[in-house]
Amino acid sequence: MRDVGLDAHWQVIFGKEEFFNATKLLHNSLQGDPATLSEEQWELFDEINAMNAEDLQGEWDAVIVHDPQPIGLRRGALAKGKRWIWRCHIDLSTPNPAPIERLLPLMEEYDASVWHLPSYVPAAMDRGGVNIIPPAIDPLSPKNMAFSPEDAAFVCEQFGIDPDRPLLTQVSRFDPWKDPIGVIDAYREVTEQLPEAQLAMVGSMASDDPEGREYFQKTYEYADNDPDIKILSNLNNVGAIEVNAFQSQADVVIQKSTREGFGLTVSEALWKARPFIGGDVGGIPLQIQDGTSGYLVSSPEECAERTLRILRDPGLGKWLGRAGKEYVRTHFLTPRLLRDWLGIFRGLG
Ligand code: UDP
Repeated sequence: MRDVGLDAHWQVIFGKEEFFNATKLLHNSLQGDPATLSEEQWELFDEINAMNAEDLQGEWDAVIVHDPQPIGLRRGALAKGKRWIWRCHIDLSTPNPAPIERLLPLMEEYDASVWHLPSYVPAAMDRGGVNIIPPAIDPLSPKNMAFSPEDAAFVCEQFGIDPDRPLLTQVSRFDPWKDPIGVIDAYREVTEQLPEAQLAMVGSMASDDPEGREYFQKTYEYADNDPDIKILSNLNNVGAIEVNAFQSQADVVIQKSTREGFGLTVSEALWKARPFIGGDVGGIPLQIQDGTSGYLVSSPEECAERTLRILRDPGLGKWLGRAGKEYVRTHFLTPRLLRDWLGIFRGLG
């Protein structure tokens, strides 16, 4: 946005542990978990939103608020923005109805809302102002810039990966919906036939994700000290460059989610022309044509079978990877996203 002359800025909200516990519960219940927030947690939610609304700096032609956690900002900061847009990053197609009822009035008050897929918009929502725009990746950022095979191999070697043996990689938060346990099951099936395969699970610890540590521990225990499963995170200094290297080095990139709003990691892997296998859920099928630019799967067994197929036929992997890269080039790079945002700003006047 700045490159085309807009004065665009990010502001980050503040929270505390109880708020993050409530918002993680909210996130899960919006994705269908039957548990939801208590009345006290809703009060805290409103209180932290009001506090952040007060702290919002500046006056803006448009304010874009991301995701449910800060959705209440608009009410408390109305005078600070001429237009208010709410950007939803998650799949609300089969939610627990209780939090939707609570959030719907807040969503509808925005001048516009932006969603990844039409099916994510709640059925009861007024369609005025609804825009369907998938996200995009920045091909020039450290996470996505071109890496030479030698450099990618060098970085992965620093984490104990043998660059001469097949590597499976999943990059994602340690979260039940990302199914790290299913990834390990698939890897184990693969190693029954190809014992030389290795698995890297690269996952950052988000400070607003209280479940992350617990699920990291669960994944770690499930890996059972297998020396060929590397479980890494930002705590091991795995940043954007390292994520790029693991994605670039992988013989197969996996994103075996069971719920996925979009899955930036999918486009990130495809942009590196890697053969990709993903869960057939949410935003993943939007990025992959099954059998043409990757594979969509619904179980660890299917994931293992497709992985073996790719590992045994490098020509197939190359062909899938090339098709995937071309699809990302035309659909999921930042210039397309910029054009879509400019269209929304223009439409709002
Ligand atoms: N990511 C990262 N380091 C990690 C794990 C993930 O930088 O160790 C990045 C990943 O490359 C992607 C983002 O975090 O850009 C995750 O986005 P995605 O849409 O895949 O999933 P979300 O976490 O938003 O559910």
